[in-house]
Amino acid sequence: MNPTSNLNKVEKDLVVSMDYSLTVDGEMVDSSDGTEPIEFIQGFGNIVPGLEKELYGMAIGDKKSVLVPAAEGYGIYDPEAVLKVDRTEFPEDIPLEKGIEVSIQSEDGEVMVAVLEEFDSKTVTLNGNHPLAGKDLNFEVTIAGLREATAEEIEHGHVHSEDECDCDCDCGEEDCDCEDDNCNCGH
Ligand code: ZN
Repeated sequence: MNPTSNLNKVEKDLVVSMDYSLTVDGEMVDSSDGTEPIEFIQGFGNIVPGLEKELYGMAIGDKKSVLVPAAEGYGIYDPEAVLKVDRTEFPEDIPLEKGIEVSIQSEDGEVMVAVLEEFDSKTVTLNGNHPLAGKDLNFEVTIAGLREATAEEIEHGHVHSEDECDCDCDCGEEDCDCEDDNCNCGH
């Protein structure tokens, strides 16, 4: 820890607690109102880039309205991410249900999550765009708190719970096999 570092302003490597609301096309789609503020490490791309860059220098208690254009939010809408799959090629063990999420592998081997948008007797349509792709994002944010990130958090690139976790789960793994009910590691 660097004793001269000031914890008054948002800067890289600090854990930021932030209250926020997100309005898209005039409708509030997400908010921390009524729940805890979100926590993330500034400068690690934990939040959308167009919002993160506007937070530098904000102090605890500061409020800001930030308009994030789609390209700096969840990306522009990509028509090529909409796939039409022959129904005979669609795995039989996945139920045909509108709105479910399906993992698909693109031609270059990248795995992405797509939403089953529609289907008919011949074709299943999968959409790999983020639901907010192509949307401009209106954030209202308030900085609720700042603290130093631990060395482990910096190494992992994400925030750990305040409560010490004593399980030996391999933090950062998607599938945690930790069986401790009291584990607060968030995995
Ligand atoms: Zn971790």
